[in-house]
Amino acid sequence: MSPFIDRLALIGVGLIGGSIARAAREYGAVRSIVAAARTEATRKRVVELGIADQVVETNGEAANDADLVIVCIPVGASGPVAAEIAGSLKPGAIVSDVGSVKGQVLKDMAPHIPKGVHLIPAHPVAGTENSGPDSGFSELFVNRWCILTPLPGVDPAAADTLEAFWKALGSEVNRLDPASHDRILAITSHLPHLIAYTIVGTADDLGGHLNSEVLKYAAGGFRDFTRIASSDPTMWRDVFMNNREAVLEVLQRFQEDLFYLQRAIRWGEGDKLFDLFTRTREIRRALIHLHQE
Ligand code: NAP
Repeated sequence: MSPFIDRLALIGVGLIGGSIARAAREYGAVRSIVAAARTEATRKRVVELGIADQVVETNGEAANDADLVIVCIPVGASGPVAAEIAGSLKPGAIVSDVGSVKGQVLKDMAPHIPKGVHLIPAHPVAGTENSGPDSGFSELFVNRWCILTPLPGVDPAAADTLEAFWKALGSEVNRLDPASHDRILAITSHLPHLIAYTIVGTADDLGGHLNSEVLKYAAGGFRDFTRIASSDPTMWRDVFMNNREAVLEVLQRFQEDLFYLQRAIRWGEGDKLFDLFTRTREIRRALIHLHQE
């Protein structure tokens, strides 16, 4: 493929930024990549890994003359970073992000983006529990969804360019309004992480003898929760702080359903458990059919 983005700027080079850098280069989507990271350690590592053509200290420097700027940092830092890069953006540039929450990020970034620059938030629904530039890999986005949440009135050509960029990285692309995105992700991603953090915390609080037995016999389902619960604390704190309403709404529903199961267990109503477990097994089969397992 001949590159259709001349200069890509990545603000933040962790799992997602590091994967975009590797994929954009490997699949030939960009001519050059400039990366900015706030710490010396990350900048040094990005140079050693050789995944960007240029590594700079300030976000403004990275945004300077870039055709596409992708902000790849915890969502809580999106507003201040948008303010930092605003003065360096050239007319016609596209500014995007990869945050797991869209409504609040849009509210935080939009006021800083100058006229003539296209702000189009995005969320690649792909990831692992690992962080930092070493954890990135070029295949991360292949056959995974990337959801764009453009506001009405956005320049159609700019939205198409961003869509083509993600497709070049192997993603399937869909467009949603930010509120729908946040409601859907609250149930498919944010609540499962909250449950994993809770279960692992509860097990740890058991203390003493039981605690060590839990770790010893972790293979029985618990181990999968520990993997999810090892995800980056900053990233996930920011997700819950910035998708508060949607998460609280789905958590309320979840608690009601959990009480329903609790009652069924207490009153020996095995048929209720059996019916639900049969239904959920079908959902897993449907997922496998859609290749999203
Ligand atoms: P990560 O591996 O922890 O990398 C985060 C990057 O952001 C690092 O380069 C870090 O810089 C930088 N950073 C942290 N705080 C910052 C701040 N206050 N100002 C400027 N830069 C800051 O995280 P990640 O997994 O790539 O996640 C990045 C974004 O992708 C998040 O918004 C997350 O919601 C979204 N996302 C994550 C996943 C996933 O599974 N992990 C999936 C989809 C989307 P230093 O290294 O210099 O500290």
